[in-house]
Amino acid sequence: MWTLVLNCGSSSVKFALLEPDSGEVKLSGLAERLRSAEARVVLTRNGQTSELPLPTGDYAGAFKALLSELERLGIGGADLKAVGHRVVHGGSRFSAPALITPGVLEAIRACVPLAPLHNPANLEGVAAAQAAFPDVPHVAVFDTAFHQNMPERAYRYAVPDEWYTRHDVRRYGFHGTSHAYVAGEAARMLGRDLHELQLVTAHLGNGCSVASIKGGQSADTSMGLTPLEGLVMGTRSGDVDPNLHAYLAREAGLTLDEVTAALNGKSGLLGLSSLSGDMRELEAAAAGGHAGAALAVEVFVYRLAKSIAAMTVPLTRLDALVFTGGIGENSASVRGKTLELLGILGFRPDEEANLRAVRGESGFITAPGSPPALVVPTNEERMIAREAARLLESA
Ligand code: ADP
Repeated sequence: MWTLVLNCGSSSVKFALLEPDSGEVKLSGLAERLRSAEARVVLTRNGQTSELPLPTGDYAGAFKALLSELERLGIGGADLKAVGHRVVHGGSRFSAPALITPGVLEAIRACVPLAPLHNPANLEGVAAAQAAFPDVPHVAVFDTAFHQNMPERAYRYAVPDEWYTRHDVRRYGFHGTSHAYVAGEAARMLGRDLHELQLVTAHLGNGCSVASIKGGQSADTSMGLTPLEGLVMGTRSGDVDPNLHAYLAREAGLTLDEVTAALNGKSGLLGLSSLSGDMRELEAAAAGGHAGAALAVEVFVYRLAKSIAAMTVPLTRLDALVFTGGIGENSASVRGKTLELLGILGFRPDEEANLRAVRGESGFITAPGSPPALVVPTNEERMIAREAARLLESA
């Protein structure tokens, strides 16, 4: 029996057909640049990739491509144990995966104001998948759920209480599936029980966040009400002075929406470098002498190190630091510089080991005597499939 995992973003759909226990992937795919003329789907089967254009450029077209590929593989509803859906925002309602019922859909819809780009796309994905596989259980796995057990001191903002009680203004945290997955894998690599471990995990992709994980539970994280708070990211600013909106409205005549759009889409690595939000491109440009690219990488690393240090506050000791996500799994340079900045915590990189841990290789990257830092490739699809399977087994 297979599990189908769907991750519907605002302009892309990722899917994977896999076996949760073994992790075997029968089919995976990415439909990207949806709602544009360049929309396409890339399918991977037995290590072979193929690419198809998506003339309609919408979700329905992406789904049609997925369904015809499943048909070609001879997979129908009867072969599926579950469909697992990544849902970005579960608000305060969900601290665990949920079997999708009309009530759960309503609750996901109620979180749309908290994630106006993501939750509607997630809901569209659920509707299309339920139409295609009406007899298969559908499970929502929330990005925010893992952080729902953070203590109040970590999730409350110091703002008027009424904003919290009436408008749900609090810190939620994201990337929970990834933080939880790599924490589990790190425990396995350390040969320790996750429940005894105290970890800091850094998920560094286009979006970036760090988390403090004590005994397998999230104790704090860098993202907040939305995924804008915290670290410098590809195009997101991370933390800025909250007076920025008012200042730019007065001084530059910008509207609230314009400032918000720029903080999400034109800031971060892209804003600092005026070149690109892509770390790989920036590292190449910085090596070629591009000053903006070098500055962007330096600010990224500095803010990352500061945030990792902050994440040690809820812990009584640090058993390991874990890097994951496209940057965390591939940029030995970002990892090395971050560990150098964290010398005060005793970190010392092992340069060779650090250079080896790229392109999906996991491993320890610190020298003897240093607290361990590890690279652990994330696998959100597998985690979503596992969580969906676990929920159905316990039901
Ligand atoms: P997403 O958050 O969209 O899933 P990824 O986890 O794939 O994104 O991370 C994308 C980031 O990883 C980009 O900034 C990309 O440049 C970076 N990245 C990927 N490979 C490398 C590499 N070899 N060196 C440096 N950065 C890399």
